[in-house]
This record gives sequence, C-alpha cells and structure tokens, in this order.
Amino acid sequence: MRLQSAPERIDGITRHGVPLAGFTTWRVGGTAETLVEPKDADGLSAAIRWFASHGLGCCVLGGGSNTLIADGEISVPIISTGAMQSVSFSREGENVFVACGAGVSLKKLFALSLREGWSGLEFAAGIPGTVGGAVMGNAGTGEGEISQAIQSVEATGADGKTRSMGRDEIEWGYRRCGLSERGFAVISRVTARLRQSTQEAVASVSRQTIERRKSQPLGTRTAGCVFKNPEGGKAGRLLDEAGCKGLSAGGAVVSGLHANFIENRSGCCTASDIANLAKLCRRRVYEKFGVWLSFEIQFLGFDRRSMEDDALA
Ligand SMILES: Cc1cc2nc3c(=O)[nH]c(=O)nc-3n(C[C@H](O)[C@H](O)[C@H](O)COP(=O)(O)OP(=O)(O)OC[C@H]3O[C@@H](n4cnc5c(N)ncnc54)[C@H](O)[C@@H]3O)c2cc1C
Repeated sequence: MRLQSAPERIDGITRHGVPLAGFTTWRVGGTAETLVEPKDADGLSAAIRWFASHGLGCCVLGGGSNTLIADGEISVPIISTGAMQSVSFSREGENVFVACGAGVSLKKLFALSLREGWSGLEFAAGIPGTVGGAVMGNAGTGEGEISQAIQSVEATGADGKTRSMGRDEIEWGYRRCGLSERGFAVISRVTARLRQSTQEAVASVSRQTIERRKSQPLGTRTAGCVFKNPEGGKAGRLLDEAGCKGLSAGGAVVSGLHANFIENRSGCCTASDIANLAKLCRRRVYEKFGVWLSFEIQFLGFDRRSMEDDALA
C-alpha cells in the first residue's frame, strides 16, 4: 500500500522510497516505502492516527545506533524523530531541568551539560543516538543509566493520545523501559533533571568513561553491543571465549577488539550478513556455555521471532 496522500494529512515531512542505510550507524538496510518526520507531538500524533485509520502500525527510528534494518523494501511506515530538535531548560535551586525533543542527540545533550557544568549525564559520554532512543532502551554503562537522569517523558500511544509521565510512573530495568509494554508507541519529548556542578568536575568524571571506551571499536560501523549481558556475566567475555572474534559472514566481521561488536567492514555488507553472523555467534556461545544470549540490538523489518528462535531449533 503506497501512502501517497500522507503528506497532505500529516504535519511534518513525508517521503517515499527512502534508502535507510544512512539512518543507521551500521550503514546497512533497505528502503522505506514511507518515512515520516514529524516536528513535534502534534505531528507525531497525527501521523500515528493517520496510519491507524489505514489499519497500519508503524516503527520508530531515532539515531539508528542500536537497530538492524532488514535489506529490501520496508513496507511498515517509519517515523523518524530526526526533526524533533527542540531544547530548553529551567532552574530550580541546584536542579536544572533540560527538556529535549526526542530526536536531539545524546552527544549534543552531553556537550551542553559539559559546557554548562551540569552533572548527571557523565556516564553517557560517547553513547551515540538520540535522547528518545536512549530512554526507550534505558541506555547506560557501568557508571549509570539514562533512567536515573529522567524527570519526565512525553509519549504518544498507538491510539494517537499523548501523555506526560514522571520517572516513577515508568518501569525501568537493564536496557529496558516499560513504556512500550504499556502501549506507548513513540517518545516525543524527554525532560532530564541534572544538578549544577562545574565544568571541571563533569569533564573529570566523563573522561574516565571515555577512557573505558578504548576497549571498543570506535570509528568503525557498528551498533554498539549486539547482545545484552546475561545475569551475572559479560556477553563480550562469553563471545570471546567461544572464539567469536574475527568470525565473518559476507562483509560483516566480529571485532577483534571487543567480541560483542559486529563491524560492517565492506561496501557490500548487508543486513543479512550481520544477522547471520550474530546468530552464528549466539549459537557458538550456547554450544560452549549453554547460555542463550538475548539481543540488545533492535530489529526493523525482520521477523523477530525467527531471530530469537533459530539456534534452539
Ligand atoms: C559505538 C557505539 C557505542 C555504544 N555504546 C553504548 C553504551 O555504552 N550503552 C548503551 O546503552 N548503548 C550503547 N550503544 C547503543 C546505542 O547507541 C544506544 O542504545 C542508543 O541509546 C540508541 O539510540 P538511537 O536513537 O540510535 O536508537 P535507535 O537505534 O534509532 O532505536 C533503538 C530502539 O528504540 C526505539 N526508539 C528510538 N527512538 C524512539 C522514540 N523516540 N520513541 C520510541 N521508541 C524509540 C526504536 O524503535 C528501536 O526499537 C552504542 C552504539 C554504538 C554504535
């Protein structure tokens, strides 16, 4: 179904036949039949309602730094948060409340915090992607998670209704935010609660975070860690000990630096190469340790069940 009339109905840019590789850090993936970029919650709500009235759901894309998009045509409509770029802040004593559109990059928010000496996001130094994506996956490191810095989240449900929720109204877990389970499709705005500190103090803490990132392949085409850490263990270590470093499938290669990163190493790498390599790695870990790793990355345009079930079949 080609949604040619969508541009007149939705406040935001709607495009058809959009190559998606440039929307992801892996730089792979097919073509979106329909991609909408709403500017704010109203545009977002109109888009979701419009899709629903045509019997369609939709998928959301932030910075594409944790997503594997399938090759070929992606028929489900895609909402990109790239145009939601507002940033404003207010103060209350030591607290600084920073309200961001979901498409603001976490790096930009961190840079602003560093410049102003606002503490609370030091753990996020070096995490790519958007604020909305970070909240949806409760992005973090050993030093902290985005949920700890949240004051409120504005999100629109599958029914097109928008609601603002306080941090404590949302269930948080390791790389998990309970919003999607409650039927909230898309985050449009996030308010972070930070504390006034000094530029020097924020820089000093975040330097340690950045230092630890040297064990990761930076500057290559990856989507961060492919698998979540299993309870009480490290996925990277299991993958390493199962001999995954250096394994390849087509143009996809497991990083020699960190076994939980898969790199797109060539111009002809496809999403299928990456998916096949990820499944191979997971099977190796299962055979060696009996541990079934869960994906940290999200899939768009794939049959998620087939990705989850394959190695146990
Ligand atoms: C080099 C590198 C290092 C990384 N290091 C870390 C790290 O230390 N810690 C960490 O946690 N992650 C890390 N990541 C992974 C990734 O950067 C984070 O998970 C990031 O928060 C994803 O944000 P995004 O906007 O790119 O999300 P996307 O990849 O665009 O989307 C991820 C998921 O969130 C959903 N989503 C995105 N935006 C919204 C929205 N507005 N509303 C509702 N749902 C939405 C998407 O539908 C998808 O399911 C790293 C990635 C790379 C490439």
